[in-house]
Amino acid sequence: MARGIETKCLHLEEEEGSSDNYGAISYPIYQTATYAHKGVGRSTGYDYSRLQNPTRSHLEKVVATLENGIDALAFSTGMAAITLLMELFRPGDHLIVDADLYGGSIRLFNNVSEKNGITFSSIDCYKEDVESYINESTKAVYIETPTNPMMNVTDIEALSKIAKRNNILLIVDNTFLSPYFQNPLDLGADIVVHSGTKYLGGHNDTLAGFLVTNREDISEKFRFLIKTTGAGLAPFDSWLILRGIKTLGIRMEKSQQNAIVIAEWLKGRSEVTKVIYPGLQEHLGYEIMKRQAKGFGAMLTFQLESKEFALGILEKVRMIKFAESLGGVETLITYPTTQTHADVPKEIREKNGITESTLRLSVGIEDVKDLLDELEKVFDELDGELNGREKS
Ligand SMILES: *Cc1c(COP(=O)(O)O)cnc(C)c1O
Repeated sequence: MARGIETKCLHLEEEEGSSDNYGAISYPIYQTATYAHKGVGRSTGYDYSRLQNPTRSHLEKVVATLENGIDALAFSTGMAAITLLMELFRPGDHLIVDADLYGGSIRLFNNVSEKNGITFSSIDCYKEDVESYINESTKAVYIETPTNPMMNVTDIEALSKIAKRNNILLIVDNTFLSPYFQNPLDLGADIVVHSGTKYLGGHNDTLAGFLVTNREDISEKFRFLIKTTGAGLAPFDSWLILRGIKTLGIRMEKSQQNAIVIAEWLKGRSEVTKVIYPGLQEHLGYEIMKRQAKGFGAMLTFQLESKEFALGILEKVRMIKFAESLGGVETLITYPTTQTHADVPKEIREKNGITESTLRLSVGIEDVKDLLDELEKVFDELDGELNGREKS
């Protein structure tokens, strides 16, 4: 019987009963660069830590299990993972990518991959006819669902059918929901990307990235590329991510619970012109999310009545931190215009709906009452200062 995901976050079935001589519960940190051989051609399976390291391998097995893949590779950052992913392609290849993506991915595609001869069609995969953009050079579709930061939701299974019919890869960046809430490989994707910095690590203290696949041929290519290019995750950082993953389930549940309460609260405020959270029934992707994911996550984006109000919030928050990143236990608020999406051209940003009054919230696991108290205080103060309105 397949185990539940909370159990899979803690126990690796295949390694049970084979713990070290001391019975350590926590997997050891193998802080070594290299490994002694018993003789010529008699490797322990570990030769040099750029290629493999036991702590990293353990983490990779855990992440592969969580995503129901046959292999996962751990990288020093999410961007290192996506950079290596792009090595699957060669000059002349064409990719279809979501228009609304993590800004760093857009920057990589526009400034590095394009220079290397790869071309892109950037479209709204959640609503456009993806198939009509496929030509004989097209090799893959690359999406996020929900997207960062506009929370657009794409039907992964429907898109995977188009990808298979046209013999191209479907790649899904699953950072926003984590494997706890969504498993794209089960829905027909070929490769899953994670910024492990976010929910997998979960504590805003470590950078990491992952590529997961259920295809033997792709796993082989990835293994060759990681040993050749060398951005594998360090042993101590691997251990920190392993430690973070142990509580993935309860963190996802609690932060989602808080996010729903905050989304409803924001909806009730007159200064907020729009709340974009896929767990709200009015969200365009709500039904698809219910079908393809086990939860809605804890990321939400909202628009304020003015730029001044948005900036005011960023100035006034104290417990909630004005910081880039997401997916950690602490609640963070982000300004996409100057942070995550600063390098995305303004026209594209605005076409995607990111304006100077857009804020993104990564809801953490604090007592939700304290989060609401702080938001209420900040909103009321700004109402007084900017609008001359008295506390309602
Ligand atoms: C943060 C992020 C990345 C990049 O990951 P890093 O670990 O910061 O390099 C990629 N995709 C998404 C959706 C992200 O949020």
